[in-house]
Amino acid sequence: MIGLRRNPDIIDETSIRDAIKANAFHLVYQPKIDLRKVEANTAHRTVGFEALLRWTHATRGVISPTDFLPIMEAAGMMDDVTDLVFSLALQQQRIWRGRGIRISVAINISAQNVHATDFTDHLLARCRECEVPPECLIVELTETAAMMDAAVAMNILTRLRLKGFRLSIDDFGTGYSSLVQLHLLPFSELKIDRAFIRDCGSSRQSEIIVKTMIDLGKNLGLAVVAEGIEDALALQIVCDLGCDYGQGFYISRPLSAEAAEQWIRKTQN
Ligand code: C2E
Ligand code: MG
Ligand code: MG
Ligand code: MG
Repeated sequence: MIGLRRNPDIIDETSIRDAIKANAFHLVYQPKIDLRKVEANTAHRTVGFEALLRWTHATRGVISPTDFLPIMEAAGMMDDVTDLVFSLALQQQRIWRGRGIRISVAINISAQNVHATDFTDHLLARCRECEVPPECLIVELTETAAMMDAAVAMNILTRLRLKGFRLSIDDFGTGYSSLVQLHLLPFSELKIDRAFIRDCGSSRQSEIIVKTMIDLGKNLGLAVVAEGIEDALALQIVCDLGCDYGQGFYISRPLSAEAAEQWIRKTQN
């Protein structure tokens, strides 16, 4: 009898679980730089990396999170996925720290994670295992996820903050924040969604919106990050508007762990 062969191109829960077991997921690291006070002829200082998940698929090559995260979310797998991401990021942090590199790493979490009541304790245990203090990590949650169930999110985020993790509100401007909730949630950083940054050079409107978001963040005591800086003009504009930090392909694409380490050695000395 001929056994049923799975189509290797299909991305579903089973293939994702198999891939996790086969260590087919890895992280890439995108630099985040300081946009403030640059002395003549010096590079912007790198203040951290954002860890981004990639899947090296047997037939499709490297796949982006936008292709597999919705399937993971729908299958309710995000607790396992976030655990994997934290393990990978913390193992890398441990290696870097062992080599004298102290750099903060940001990790994206999903709306599903804020429902796990033991989330904070679990992360703390992972940090302890790898001897990485929570202060070295930034937990990113999208504005949409934070507002979806703001009371539940508040509970988890407050616990994380109290334990020393820093918190970042991601893709800001695409969700519907109530300003009251934004003020109450214990975020330390606000990341302006790349859609607004992309349009900065061509649309005065977008520039005004970006400026307004920068002022809002700063007035609430948050560090403000521009994501999706794709060219010199966008970099210039967000610097001029007073943005604190920046990320984007113009600065650097997400890098392998090895390339990220070289990036740090090259830019911090
Ligand atoms: P994000 O957290 O907002 O991450 C930024 C995304 O924008 C990344 O895409 C990054 O590669 C991309 N990007 C950075 N600079 C530029 C630029 O200048 N231009 C353009 N066009 N894109 C830029 P990526 O890695 O495909 O991730 C997409 C989203 O998937 C992330 O958006 C995040 O929401 C989610 N994600 C990625 N990794 C993880 C993860 O480990 N866990 C969870 N829960 N979500 C993740
Ligand atoms: Mg992010
Ligand atoms: Mg983002
Ligand atoms: Mg995004």
